Formats: sequence, C-alpha cells, structure tokens
Amino acid sequence: MVIKKNIEPIRYIDNLMALMPNALFIAEPFFCGEHDADAKVKIVKVNKAFCELLGCTDNEILEKPVGEIFEEKELFKILVTRLVNEEHVKSFELAYLRKDGSQVPVLLSASVVKHSSGRAKGIICLAQDITKLKKADDDLKKISLSLENAQRIGRMGNWDWDLVTNEILWSDEIYRIFGYEPKSVKPSFELFSNAVHPADRDYVNESIRKAAEEREPYSIDHRIILPDGLEKIVHEDGEVTYDSNGKAVKMTGAVQDITERKNAEDQLALASKVFESAAEGVMVSDSYGTILSVNPAFTKITGFTAEEALGKNPNILRSDRHDQAFYDNMWKKLITEGAWQGEIWNRRKSGKAYPEWLNITAIKNQQGKTERYVAVFHDLTDIIESREKVEYQANHDALTGLPNRVLFMDRLKVGIRLAQRIEKKLAVLSIGIDRFSSINESFGHIMGDGVLQAVGDKLKEYVHESDTVSRYSGDEFTILLEDIDSIDDAVKHANEILEGMEKPFTVNGKELFITVSVGVTIYPDDGNKEDALISNAVTAMARAKEEGRNKYSLFIQAMNERAMVKLAMESNLRRALEKGEIKVYYQPKVDLTSGKIVGAEALVRWIREDGSSISPGLFVPVAEETGLIFEIGELVMRTACKDNKEWIDAGFHQPIIVSVNLSARQFQGQDIVKFVESALSDTGLPYEYIELEITESVIVVDVEKAIDMMLKLSSMGIKLSIDDFGTGYSSLSYLKRFPINTLKVDQVFVRDLPGDADNAAITIAIISLAKNLGLKVIAEGVENREALEFLKKNGCDEMQGFYFSKPLPKDEFEKLLKDGKTIIN
Ligand code: C2E
Ligand code: CA
Ligand code: CA
Repeated sequence: MVIKKNIEPIRYIDNLMALMPNALFIAEPFFCGEHDADAKVKIVKVNKAFCELLGCTDNEILEKPVGEIFEEKELFKILVTRLVNEEHVKSFELAYLRKDGSQVPVLLSASVVKHSSGRAKGIICLAQDITKLKKADDDLKKISLSLENAQRIGRMGNWDWDLVTNEILWSDEIYRIFGYEPKSVKPSFELFSNAVHPADRDYVNESIRKAAEEREPYSIDHRIILPDGLEKIVHEDGEVTYDSNGKAVKMTGAVQDITERKNAEDQLALASKVFESAAEGVMVSDSYGTILSVNPAFTKITGFTAEEALGKNPNILRSDRHDQAFYDNMWKKLITEGAWQGEIWNRRKSGKAYPEWLNITAIKNQQGKTERYVAVFHDLTDIIESREKVEYQANHDALTGLPNRVLFMDRLKVGIRLAQRIEKKLAVLSIGIDRFSSINESFGHIMGDGVLQAVGDKLKEYVHESDTVSRYSGDEFTILLEDIDSIDDAVKHANEILEGMEKPFTVNGKELFITVSVGVTIYPDDGNKEDALISNAVTAMARAKEEGRNKYSLFIQAMNERAMVKLAMESNLRRALEKGEIKVYYQPKVDLTSGKIVGAEALVRWIREDGSSISPGLFVPVAEETGLIFEIGELVMRTACKDNKEWIDAGFHQPIIVSVNLSARQFQGQDIVKFVESALSDTGLPYEYIELEITESVIVVDVEKAIDMMLKLSSMGIKLSIDDFGTGYSSLSYLKRFPINTLKVDQVFVRDLPGDADNAAITIAIISLAKNLGLKVIAEGVENREALEFLKKNGCDEMQGFYFSKPLPKDEFEKLLKDGKTIIN
C-alpha cells in the first residue's frame, strides 16, 4: 500500500480499519517471554468487524490480554513462535472466544508490527470468520462418509477413469466388491479385466467398446472371480465423457454386487417353476384363509380354475367325510405346531369327494405372526383305489369274487373269539363239488370255471349276510355259520344247500346237474382252533363223498383216522396194482322165473397179501380222484371179458352176461367205445355177453354226450344198465331217450322188503316204469327170502344179493356155474 505523506497516517488507518470486512486487532508488545505471552500482550487496537465478531465494544476489549480471546492459548503461542521466525503467518486456523463464551472459527493472517528502527513492536492479526466454510467442510465430510456408508450398505461402488492420464480411482466399496482391502492395490483396467469371469470377459469388453463407440451408457451383469476364488455376480453401469473435440477423456461408472439378489432371483424363478410344474397341488392362503394363489396342478386335481379359487375360502373344497372335530384338531395343530399333514377327503368342483395327502405349513413373519398358509397336496384316488384293489385281491378269489382262504381264516378267527365270549356255537361247512374233475375233463376248464362261479353264487343264497361263503381251494368251498344254536341248525343249512343244488344249472348255455358233498363241523364241540375246524369239515366232506356223494356228513373225531387211512391208501393202491392185489370177483345174477344164473356183476376187490380185503367203497373214490380208476377199470373189463370167454368156451353152462361197473370219471375221461371194443376184440368175447353198469350221475353231467356215447355202444350190441336206480335224478324225460336195457333197483329199497311200505311202493313203481319203457329190471341187495318173494310177485326179472351168493372169486363162481346152482322154489 502506498500512503501519501500529506495524509495523516493514523486517521487514515483508522478509517481503513473501519471499512475492512475482516476482524483486525493489534496487540503489543510483540515478545514478552514464552510462558505468559497471552497474559502480557495486550490488545491495543481493534476494528469494527472485530468487535462485531466477538460481540463486544472496543472499550470492553481494548487493553485486555490477548490470551482472553483465544480458546486454545497454546495455539496462540505457536502463532507467536512462528511469527518470530517468519514475520508473516498466513491461514492459521483457530477459534476466537466471544463475549458470550461461544467460539467462532477463524482463519488468521498475522504479521509483526515493527518500530521504524526495525524492532518488533507488536502483532497485527487479521481474522476471517470461517464458520460457514467450516460447516460446509463438515457437511462435505458427512456427505462423503454417508456416501461411503451408502456404498457399503448397497454394495455399490463407483469408479473414475481418466483416459488421458490412465489414472483410475475406485471407491472403497469397489475394492471390497473385488475382494481387496480399500486402497491396498493400485486400480487398473487389467486388474478389473482379470477379475471378470473368463467366460464373461468378451461380453464385458465388447459392451464397453460398444458404449464408447456409440456414445451410449452401458449397463451389464457379469460374473467376477475374487482373489480367493469366490465367484460373485455384479451389475455395472458406465459412461464415457468426451471433450469438445469429441475425444473420449473420461469414463465413470458404478459396480454393484448383486450376487445375493441374483441368487434369490434364481431361487425364486426355480420356486415358481416348481410351483407351476409340480404334480402336487399348491394353494397359498393368507392368515384369514383367503386363497391368494394356486398352481395348475391345483386346478387339475380340484377342477377349480385359479379365477374360481382366488379370493375364496378353502372350504370350497370341503367334503362331508369328516366331522367338525377333525377340522378343529387340524387347526389346533396348525396353530400350536405350525404344520399339519394327513389324509383328507376333499371335494372336487364336480362335487365328487376324493382322498388327498395334504401338507399345510404356516408361514410366519419376523414377529412370529402367521401371514400365510401353504397347502401342498396330492391326489390319492389312484393309490387308494389300487390299495383297495390289492386288499380286495389279496382277500378274494378272482374267479368267484368270494372271500378266499385268507379272509375266511380271518373271519373264522374273529368268529371263534366272539363265540367264545358269548358262549355260542359256530359251524364250518366244507362243500365239495361232486365229480368236478369229470366236469373239467369233459367240458374243459372254461366250463369248469363257470360251474365254480355258479355254485359260489348258489351257496350265497343259502346263508345269512353275516355268514361267510368262501372259495377255499379248487372245487372246495367253505361256509362259516355264525348264528347257530345247535348242530341241528348246521344240518338244516347243509340240507338246504343240498336241495338247492338239485335244480339243474345253466352254465355257458349248457344245462348241468351238479351235486355237492357237505362236511359239517361244530365249534366248540369238534375243535376250538380254526385250522382244526377247517380240516374237520374237509374230512367230513370227504366222507360224504366216500359215502356216495350228494349228501352231508358230520365230523366225528374218528374221521381223522379215516382221513389218514385214505391218504395211505392212495400210494398203497398204486403198489397194489403193480403187485396184482387188485382182483375181480363175480356176483351171480339170477333169473327169478327160471331160478338159474343168467349173469354176473364183476366187482373189483383189493385183496392184500395177508388175505384181508379192502372195500371198493373205500378205494374206488380214491382211485377216481387220482385217475387210477382208468387202470383199474381196464383191468376189470379185460378180466371180465377174458373170464366170460373162458366160461363160454368151456361150455358147461349156458352163456351168461357179465356186467362191468363204469364210474363217472371213466365215462367222462376216456373213449368208452374204444375201451370196450379193444377189450372185446382182444379177448374174442362176443358183444352180446357184456353189459355196462352206469349210474344216473354219469349221464346227467352231460346229457347229450352221454346219449351219444350210449347210442354208439348199443348200436354195437353192448347192453347198458342203469345202476342204483331210484337214488339219482330219475328224470323220466331223459330216461326215455337213453338206449338202455336194464334198470337196477338200488339196494336201499330192496334190503328191507317187503316190511318198509315206502320202499315197497318205490320198488313196485320202478318195476312198472321199467315194464312201460320195455326195460328189464333187476333188484340188487336181496338178502332174504321175503324180499325175493316180493320181487318175484311184483314182476321183477332178476335178482342179485347175498341171499343167493356173495361176490366170489373166479374159481368159486365157476363152481356155481358148473354145479348149476339155482334158486329153489
Ligand atoms: P355197486 O355197483 O352198487 O355194487 C353192488 C354192491 O353191493 C357191491 O359192493 C356188492 O358186494 C354189494 N352187494 C351185493 N349183494 C348184496 C347184498 O345182498 N347185501 C349187501 N349189503 N350188499 C350187497 P362192493 O363190491 O363193495 O362195491 C361197492 C361199489 O364199488 C359198487 O357198487 C360200485 O359202485 C363200485 N365198484 C365195484 N367194483 C367196481 C369196478 O370194477 N369198477 C367201478 N368203476 N366201480 C366198482
Ligand atoms: Ca353195480
Ligand atoms: Ca348198485
């Protein structure tokens, strides 16, 4: 500053000071020792701005020690020290203490005021109030701190790349995103580029290049690999700045770590795919139960579309299969445990109830309050149907639909337990179809199956609904009667069944006569275990068969032994055949008019080595069952033909007719015509000396076939006789069509003649029937004179029985022939 000499310097300075916007003071003396400078140095001049800054008048401040205006006296000392060295200090920051005790930050410039001699006189301080500046600076610091925080929290950093100097600046967060401590490495494009996942590198470079070329900001997502190998996904935005010449000078951008968000998005996308494509129905509802979303499987299962379901309550699906307690329980569990799962019957839109496996989970918010319910379910219809089917199949016979052995045993077990408690009786009936193997053999298995079905159906008609009819095995049925008081009740049932079977069955368009044999056993009389009861019933049934079939038999303990005997018999019989123990006996048939032997019935005998014999009544049924009957029948037929040929050739008696018994099994299972023909031609016996005895049961199994066969036999000259006449079906219409020669009155009618009036009447009726049909009639089982007389009187042609002779071995019979034994009149 240049001051003209003629102006008074002091006034000039005063005016100048008053005009100055900065606060100014002058203090003296300049230097007064280090320790108490602030107290000794006094303020000697101030300006208006100074007084305003400190909030005081000049009178109040002048002559005060300078230390009073400094909050930090140490700083003042530093200032003084510096002034000693530099004479002039600029931009020294400290705070003035105002009159009211508050502080004001100032930026000081201080100089030493000198005497004209050059000696330091005082100091002059010029202060600028930097309150505003300070605040702006603080604010800036705060902003940058919060920016840094924001970057850290948002995982987003920014960078700056000076393309001219190639200097790159990274914010702290960028370092962190790329896996470095802030400022620990020098940022470079290479550093960045190397961190980019190799598979994404081309894409990233290309995006940046394109942005620069097209002057468009870029925005990309890509992966980076951190120094420790960790992979992250980042989102980058960047742009290029150009100078006025259009030259790219700078690039700026931001990088955000979006790994978590991306993963969450991927998870969400996956979840939504699962939701959409799941086979399980999914239904999400809010805490009030309002349906918020459903998936396609929900629609597929329930029939309700999303539009129909949304906003509704899940009770649109409720069926009436469960009571309120069921739902109450479900809610209780959901509330207390947060989840429920189980089988439940719901209702489809169509109204049809269906079973589903349902899994409900309560989704809670952070406060633990349930916000959503997620229900996941799958349709159990198929599973339950197949489960029921499997269960049904496991317990039922596929052919007849009746309970099978397993279920029967089960019911029997339960039945026994109940009967035990209430002290009641039970009956187990075993029902075997008579000659079932013949049916199978002559008609085939389809017909056999039809018969089993028909019999099964029929049996059901004769029991109460609470009783169980089961197909126990093959041709055996079992019935459990639970409501009986005595053995008589069981017998009544058995009789009803036998009677019920009497009417012909129509199976696959064919009319069949089927008979059954019934075995009856009673709990607790005959046993108290299910196995024992069943085997008892079967034993009794087998006996009914042995005793001629089409009847019932009660189990008695002793029958067990019979069953054992029967079993042994089968293998023994085979051996007996091999050993020649099977023989043929002959029982004479006598003409009641002449009294002479006119024929003989060939009867099979099993004579054991020790001389004992087994009745054909016992072993023939076994032979029939096992098929051994074919061999036995062949043996009897050939022996009978051979023996008769011998007797004729011997010529000691007029020729007789030998009759041979044919069982139903033989009749069905083999070509009888061939069988007879070969025996006759092999032995040379003329056809007229042989007769076949068949029972009605042989015929009625398949009437047409039987007639056909009989016609063939009779056309060859072979005689046919109906055995056991009167005990079978005796269908007269059939009888007329049979080409038979003889009726043989069954011995049950003959035995007690003439005493039994019923039998006498039947016998007379049979004899007259035979006469009407032009048939010969013979009575078997004649054991006494009275019967013989009765028969003779009533016009019976022939007789056979113990009264005249028992069945005899060949040589003994021959003797009768030779001797010419006759009935003595
Ligand atoms: P069936 O054809 O009715 O034979 C008559 C049965 O009556 C014979 O019993 C005979 O011994 C018996 N009998 C004869 N006269 C009298 C009598 O005055 N009083 C008594 N109480 N019985 C008498 P058998 O020999 O025990 O034969 C039983 C059954 O065995 C026969 O009954 C027949 O069905 C069958 N059978 C016997 N031999 C053969 C055979 O060679 N082939 C076939 N398929 N069955 C045979
Ligand atoms: Ca006979
Ligand atoms: Ca007979």
